[in-house]
Amino acid sequence: MYDGYFRKIEYLRFSITDRCNFFCRYCRTKEVCEIENKELSKDEIFRVISVFKKLGINKLRFTGGEPFLRDDIFDIIEFADSIGIKNINVTTNGYLDGEKIGKIAKSSLSSINISLDTLDRQKYKVLTGVDGLSEVISTIKSLSRFKKVKINTVLLRSVNFDEIEHLISFAKENNVVIRFIELMPVGIANRIFESEFVSIAEVLKRFRNVREIESSENSVAKYYHIEDFDHIVGFINAVSGHFCDRCDKVRVSSRGILYNCLFDRIGLDLKEYLNDEDILIEKIQEFVKKKRFTRNPTTDTMMFKMGG
Ligand code: SAM
Ligand code: SF4
Repeated sequence: MYDGYFRKIEYLRFSITDRCNFFCRYCRTKEVCEIENKELSKDEIFRVISVFKKLGINKLRFTGGEPFLRDDIFDIIEFADSIGIKNINVTTNGYLDGEKIGKIAKSSLSSINISLDTLDRQKYKVLTGVDGLSEVISTIKSLSRFKKVKINTVLLRSVNFDEIEHLISFAKENNVVIRFIELMPVGIANRIFESEFVSIAEVLKRFRNVREIESSENSVAKYYHIEDFDHIVGFINAVSGHFCDRCDKVRVSSRGILYNCLFDRIGLDLKEYLNDEDILIEKIQEFVKKKRFTRNPTTDTMMFKMGG
């Protein structure tokens, strides 16, 4: 499927729940959570995935909210695999029990992104609302033996600007990729954006001999070899430089709304058409044709609803 600027749309980022067991300061607070659970059912999710597969989607990422709060997540992953989607990924906070870790190890997931913003137990607790650092570290260590694991670290001046070197060393010791992400002015992050934002350029300046590495993936991350660590580190400059010209992605929220961009307000409610696949295909194609060339500068959309 192509948008109106002939960008090939091959990647679906699917928020399968807006529930979460964390309250990360930049993502979710109690007052912005809705009590009523209107997330799509498993069957509705199957229909959405099927139709996007028919439209040429070959890369899928499940996100949320916390995707592993859904009991049926492994059925959903296996369904996507069964219809031939080969590149299936998930983003999680990593606060998982042994049973889920075991199931992930055996699943057809290609990779797991685990969010980790600090290695300090107290800071972790204050930032996320959960005293869960040791569990998340244990998830990273266990899963990296079976799957490709990437750590996602959102740069926050008061939290981890003094921990960047430590986080890179941790990733190196555990043989996983770490990617530093600029805080985006999305949802409640707008409240702390000015004081907490750190640009990738400011981080790169701290290292000697930084060499950009060619990456084969159409990734939003740029990878650099950093001589100080003899390690490759990813950086996602989601704010200081955006990648709209090569965007290949659309998003579906946990309530079944299709968005062409994280920064869009207007979406297409897929639920209205789920019972007629031909009409659904037509509506999606029509909507994706309207994908704008560049994004809005900020949005009040909540990241945990649209899916980060
Ligand atoms: N709960 C899962 C997790 O935390 O990984 C998946 C959903 S979460 C919304 C996905 C990713 O979005 C996380 O890595 C999180 O740190 C990131 N994120 C949330 N709000 C953000 C913001 N304002 N700017 C940049 N990244 C953000
Ligand atoms: Fe939950 Fe992920 Fe948002 Fe943290 S970043 S509140 S874990 S959805």
